[in-house]
Amino acid sequence: MQYVSTRAAASAAASSSQQFSDILLGGLATDGGLFLPTEYPQVSGAELDAWRQLSYADLAFEILKKFATDIPEADLRALTAKTYTKEVYKNARQGEKASQITPLRVLEEENGTKLVLQALSNGPTLAFKDMAMQLLGNLFEYALAKQNAELNIFGATSGDTGSAAEYAMRGKQGIRVFMLSPHKKMSAFQTAQMFSLQDPNIYNIAIEGVFDDAQDMVKAVSNDLEFKAKYKIGTVNSINWARVVAQVVYYFRGYLAATTSNDQKVSFTVPSGNFGNICAGHIARMMGLPIDKLVAATNENDVLDEFFRTGVYRVRKSAETYHTSSPSMDISKASNFERFVYELVGRDGDRTRALFQKVETRGGFDLSGKPGSDGDEFKLVAKYGFKSGKSTHDDRVNTIRDVADDYGIVIDTHTADGIKVAKENLEPGVTMIVLETALAAKFNETILEALGEDAERPKGFENIEDLPQKFVVMKPDVAAMKAYIAANTGL
Ligand SMILES: *Cc1c(COP(=O)(O)O)cnc(C)c1O
Repeated sequence: MQYVSTRAAASAAASSSQQFSDILLGGLATDGGLFLPTEYPQVSGAELDAWRQLSYADLAFEILKKFATDIPEADLRALTAKTYTKEVYKNARQGEKASQITPLRVLEEENGTKLVLQALSNGPTLAFKDMAMQLLGNLFEYALAKQNAELNIFGATSGDTGSAAEYAMRGKQGIRVFMLSPHKKMSAFQTAQMFSLQDPNIYNIAIEGVFDDAQDMVKAVSNDLEFKAKYKIGTVNSINWARVVAQVVYYFRGYLAATTSNDQKVSFTVPSGNFGNICAGHIARMMGLPIDKLVAATNENDVLDEFFRTGVYRVRKSAETYHTSSPSMDISKASNFERFVYELVGRDGDRTRALFQKVETRGGFDLSGKPGSDGDEFKLVAKYGFKSGKSTHDDRVNTIRDVADDYGIVIDTHTADGIKVAKENLEPGVTMIVLETALAAKFNETILEALGEDAERPKGFENIEDLPQKFVVMKPDVAAMKAYIAANTGL
């Protein structure tokens, strides 16, 4: 399986292609594009039937081996077996089996239409990012050991990504994590989750400023190519291909667990921000999984909803980005969206490059086909089965309340955005699976507002705020940051 950049010129595409292990530890392609396989591996109906019996770990192996063809199968099987265990996904709630890793819960069934929740947040940090990040931790450790190499992961977080990365990389050989976060801006729970880690390879750095200050520091350090090479700096952001591919697995799992034959129709609603999660659903569909609709649910930051309604992709300025009660979806642009646009324009790298240069220079592009637009490919979106919707704070609060009343479970704010939009997109005879992207305990403030009581905390998280914390506070000073990394890597 070869990989190519979404911005590769047609003439260069074949010669510049790479293997899975080549792109595993990297981020963007050198031309600024994102990696995709040169073609999607196909899954037959017979294969799908055989996969119905598999454990999650075995299913993950079957899917990953189609993409990671340069990793020996026995090694890959060991990696997936170690990643997807009931001990790692132990935060399953009452009525869920931890051994199923992503258990389904039927919320409603009427006239052949089902509304189902797929729990993706039973891992160590109570958010779906663990599903991919835990595998990434094991893949990184494996790949680094083979090359006798080291990696220093450097990133900025406002919550979910940073904690998922730290829990995936803690204690791993050859890996250190330097994670910046805005000082005193994360919730007490999120802060405690990250800062209570005492592992010597985890460095929590609280930056005096807001998230953008932390993000700017990461960009400044990463733009210093000499420093980056010398100190072996890498990232684990949502454009990482291995993260996307690990997420493909739970779409297969959800479909197979919700059906008894491959003729049955299933749609997915996905609480979306950077388009990483739903992009994995699109890839599952391209591989032949019979997904009916993929519904992108956004919050007030409705960049994606706007595109799927109008064909106009218009990124927002920081000042136009709302801070909402589903903060992990507060995005100004959707960093994985280029992977879908590449497909939409017929895998034309020159065209994709031109469109995303327009994002830089003009703040977006328009594929509506209207006079003066940049193209008419929006008309093809329906063929890919995409739909969308948006949700506001009031919707979230009402949905959390309704779901508690009607189905007796407490959902988090991001999942509430998903349920709200899913209900607007139910179709007769089609099962709708909503991906549960976090557990309520992580976003307790809004739960308290909606229900008048605290969200239940999984075992082991009861007194997390009281644990000793390990972190340093720094000013947003790039030189000081570089000195800190240099001193702690010993390179
Ligand atoms: C990251 C995140 C999302 C958004 O996922 P994308 O892959 O960026 O679209 C949604 N919900 C939660 C809880 C998250 O942590």
